[in-house]
Amino acid sequence: MIFAGKAIKVEQQPSGVALLTLDLQGETVNKFDSLTLTELKDAVAKLQTVPDLKGVVFTSAKDVFVVGADITEFMTWFDSEDEVLAGNLRATHQIFNDISALPCPTVVAINGIALGGGFELCLACDYRVMAETAKVGLPETQLGIYPGWGGSVRLPRLIGVDNACEWICGGGQKRADAAFKDGAVDAVVPADKVVESAFHLIEQVNAGKLDFMARREEHTAPMVFSPIEKMMIFESVRGVVGAKAGKHYPAPMAVIKSMEKSISQPMDKACETEIAGFIKMAKTPVAKSLVNLFLSDQKIKKSASTLIAKSLTDDNAKVQKAAVLGAGIMGGGVAYQSASKGTPIVMKDIRQDALDLGLSEANKLFSGQVSRGRLTADKAMQGLNSIVPVLSYGEFSDVDLVVEAVVENMDVKKSVLAETEDHITPDTILTSNTSTISITELATALKRPENFVGMHFFNPVHKMPLVEVIRGEKSSDAAVAKTVAYAKAMGKNPIVVNDCPGFLVNRVLFPYFGGFSALMKEGADLREVDKVMERFGWPMGPAYLLDVVGIDTAHHADSVMAAGFPDRMQHEGTNVIDHLFSLKRFGQKNNKGFYTYVEDRKGKPKKVYDEEIETILAPTVTSKTELTEEDIIHRMMIPLCIETVRCLEDGIVASPAEADMGLIYGIGFPPYLGGAIHYLDQMGLAAFCELADKYSHLGKLYEPTEKMRAMAANNETFYGNAAK
Ligand code: NAD
Repeated sequence: MIFAGKAIKVEQQPSGVALLTLDLQGETVNKFDSLTLTELKDAVAKLQTVPDLKGVVFTSAKDVFVVGADITEFMTWFDSEDEVLAGNLRATHQIFNDISALPCPTVVAINGIALGGGFELCLACDYRVMAETAKVGLPETQLGIYPGWGGSVRLPRLIGVDNACEWICGGGQKRADAAFKDGAVDAVVPADKVVESAFHLIEQVNAGKLDFMARREEHTAPMVFSPIEKMMIFESVRGVVGAKAGKHYPAPMAVIKSMEKSISQPMDKACETEIAGFIKMAKTPVAKSLVNLFLSDQKIKKSASTLIAKSLTDDNAKVQKAAVLGAGIMGGGVAYQSASKGTPIVMKDIRQDALDLGLSEANKLFSGQVSRGRLTADKAMQGLNSIVPVLSYGEFSDVDLVVEAVVENMDVKKSVLAETEDHITPDTILTSNTSTISITELATALKRPENFVGMHFFNPVHKMPLVEVIRGEKSSDAAVAKTVAYAKAMGKNPIVVNDCPGFLVNRVLFPYFGGFSALMKEGADLREVDKVMERFGWPMGPAYLLDVVGIDTAHHADSVMAAGFPDRMQHEGTNVIDHLFSLKRFGQKNNKGFYTYVEDRKGKPKKVYDEEIETILAPTVTSKTELTEEDIIHRMMIPLCIETVRCLEDGIVASPAEADMGLIYGIGFPPYLGGAIHYLDQMGLAAFCELADKYSHLGKLYEPTEKMRAMAANNETFYGNAAK
């Protein structure tokens, strides 16, 4: 044994080749935490002293190779002084440089996923053999930073500048075939052959069939381009990447700039260029937001798993068969999503034509998966066949969970739920996809209210990642946990919230729409408001979003919110939503709302601005206020942020992480801000309260809570408090 630690061991084989195995004890995955890096350094130091070493194979004893750096540990580095951070980065560079300078051939056997630092280790080896099932990539730009352990230096030298920019700026995980095609790996083999093949490669090198020193030289030397050639390559990638990344996400453009310089430098200088650029990115608020989101995402996934483990046994955690009531937009979407993720589902409606439409929509989605190469035709057919359309309750006797998705009407829902309860077992969980009706109230119609929970999907179901799981007053822990388990099995991110009008997402979204309606009342141009908010980072502006949600749906929800929170959500007179509703301009669904819609060449609705809308909306305008871009942003964002805090204070949502992830997954809140609560923390509550006070004339939606003011006075943050 050459080295034996808690994360790494190195054994020398009879052939004289050493096998370095990563296997972090006590963890299900390998990651580069400080223990692993220290051991890697020590193991490499030992390898440097082994006489007549014939080669080194790197691999992992776990299903994954290395998932990357341990973010929880390394995010504390980001706050350190530049020189300290540079020193830390240099220390890991040194380990990887030492690996690439070993006097023998090095081959990595990538048996499973190798991301970030894990893939940077692979890049430091002479050859890479990859399992067919593994994935590799450098996802750092998705965290607002970029590769900091040599990835931006070694990858372009290995696969060319264009490919490296696409890999690094896109941040995706590459499958083995794609990695091989781009030249990032030398061979792709079945997972159980990956180590054997790596040893075989070393044999070939030692037999003189491959020249590892020449290859090493080639991959470490500066790349040679004429100035014109270099300018053309980088201008073209900058054009492509800049358009995609947008102004709020600086890391992709920054890494291109760094590569433009480093590719022509010798390795030591190139590494310093990477380090200097990395430090700049690590200090940006965007990196802080995106790292925080990554951690929050892990947290919500963990809390879902803990909840399931606490309330359910392995035997009863899984929904084996589900049912959905209603085959409309939402019911059809739920049926497709359930079937496509492997849970058979009965789809009930009262109309055959609705069932036919629901099935044909599901069929379209399955066919799309086949044409994109994500599903075989057989699997798609199997999926479609696992949706059983019915007009009666005959198939309900053995379902584990029912999702009710009939029309949004309290009386209809109560009667449908009560009727369903008579056709299911006493253990079956009943859920409702209502957007606005109280779960506690709906439960009054049931004999077993403890088995009833809200399960709020978003439209379109197959695309939207969030499911709000709403705990009514009488919902049992087991019912909540089973609903969470089903949402997870459907590939969604469940967040458990308590019952209140609008639950979490709509409760926060409607004050934002309230901000919009007030702007329109003061004569704002809807195109301008949409453009400003899109520039600010929203996927679509509020007018367009209202059209997509449906003006009728929004109008109904608006009245529910006004009744639930009259002190701040009730409005006087007719607002733009009421007005368009009265004119039956329901938005995208009937091709006219704030915008008008025409079919594009693919048959999808395309938004068109119709000058007439100004005249149409004129009766709702009561004054003409000069509004700056900042005014628009503040007037839209302040009510949303304050209402999110109220949800936390009222215990509707359990933690800042869940509130922020709910907004990111539910309404596309700009990720670079890290969610409403993180945005407040970054701005500072004192600064926020001061800003909100400037708009106090707009009413209670703009009034920070007492607790916010107290926190501001004590310089407290929400995430800081949550960690206490
Ligand atoms: P929809 O009108 O498209 O579909 C409702 C379906 O329910 C129709 O096919 C109707 O025939 C059927 N139905 C009516 N009574 C029934 C009964 N007794 N048994 C079985 N089926 C019955 O409506 P939708 O947009 O799919 O909305 C359904 C629910 O989902 C509503 O509660 C709505 O608030 C909620 N929701 C909708 C959206 C959205 O964007 N559409 C988003 C989230 C939640």
